[in-house]
Amino acid sequence: MSAPITPDNLTVPRQKVAGKPALIGLSREAMRDALIAMGTPEKQAKMRVGQIWHWLYFKGVTDFGMMTSLSKAYRAELAEIFTLDRPEIVTKQTSKDGTRKYLLRIAGGHEVEVVYIPEKNRGTLCVSSQVGCTLTCSFCHTGTQKLVRNLTAGEIVAQILVARDDLNEWDNTPFDKRLLSNVVLMGMGEPLYNFESVRDAMKIAMDPEGISISRRRITLSTSGVVPEIARTGDEIGCMLAISFHATTDEVRDTLVPINKRWNIEALLDGLRAYPRLSNSERITFEYVMLKGINDSDEDAHRLVKLIEGIPAKINLIPFNPWPGSPYERSEWSRIDAFGDIVNEAGYASPVRRPRGEDIMAACGQLKSETERARKSRKQIAEEAGL
Ligand code: SAH
Ligand code: SF4
Repeated sequence: MSAPITPDNLTVPRQKVAGKPALIGLSREAMRDALIAMGTPEKQAKMRVGQIWHWLYFKGVTDFGMMTSLSKAYRAELAEIFTLDRPEIVTKQTSKDGTRKYLLRIAGGHEVEVVYIPEKNRGTLCVSSQVGCTLTCSFCHTGTQKLVRNLTAGEIVAQILVARDDLNEWDNTPFDKRLLSNVVLMGMGEPLYNFESVRDAMKIAMDPEGISISRRRITLSTSGVVPEIARTGDEIGCMLAISFHATTDEVRDTLVPINKRWNIEALLDGLRAYPRLSNSERITFEYVMLKGINDSDEDAHRLVKLIEGIPAKINLIPFNPWPGSPYERSEWSRIDAFGDIVNEAGYASPVRRPRGEDIMAACGQLKSETERARKSRKQIAEEAGL
């Protein structure tokens, strides 16, 4: 064996910002390389990865000492070099509708929010991909917080691990009994501005020998980072949701400012070329209902015309207000009338029922209150062209 490997000279991707490198979040190949680098004989490395993978992602252990299929000496060696630390749960709030919101502290003392939403036939975890967001959608609370940093793959997948710990759902819960059955990348951040980490984390979540959530139960929501959309289909293969929200470039420029870079036409062209587009794998168009801004009958007609030919469903999201937000939620009668027009055009248009409103856990309300790096209200208004 060559020079002793320490956390400082190990040449594997650093998943942790400080301290020992994390094993959680490494792909199988990267984990194999890391084990070889620490002195595991090459011939054994693949088998060791299989064993460790099972403990981490099937059993959910939090300590190398619990990996009893490995020798004591090997466990001790692993513990000396790597960490299995999960983000710390700072607070957990439970809504009267059963929604749970976790505030997690990650390396560097930053905080991200994760939301668990139980429903009749499934349970969905809403996962964050960044601390804050570089984009400034004017109706979104996260958009008022500057981007602090991208999350690592380990920090993204750890959100699922922490939720399964809390739901007590390790060790072979049959899939149809699972409380956590679906993942949506709809928490804080723009997932396609952190593509590699999101991809690596979702690959781990999908791995059949671990967490085993099928790609069809994972939905990535993007504000419209067009060049990365095709890659999402090719390299992740999950379901896609688009934050559409407006039917003219003029309005979309103010609501979703990334529209100034890739406008409605460029976005729709990108979607028509999406590799997975089919009737069984329709794209979800998210449409936030803002009173007097984007909720007219004309908007509904324009919307169905724009997306003609794209296998799609339209998800109407009643606006979730937050302190100081510059918009109001459309009246329910308006949302229904809008939905009727969309339905008549042949598109399913479920209205997303707000969940966890009493704990500010609903879509677009996430923001780590303790983060000091905030944009001023003036800056937000200016960036949104309001
Ligand atoms: N950044 C990604 C994913 C996170 S936001 C994106 O923008 O798609 C998840 C969804 O919540 C998006 O459709 C977003 O537009 C929507 N959203 C944001 N703020 C909201 C609010 N206050 N009320 C309702 N939906 C909101
Ligand atoms: Fe960022 Fe999405 Fe919020 Fe826009 S809606 S600011 S892209 S998190």
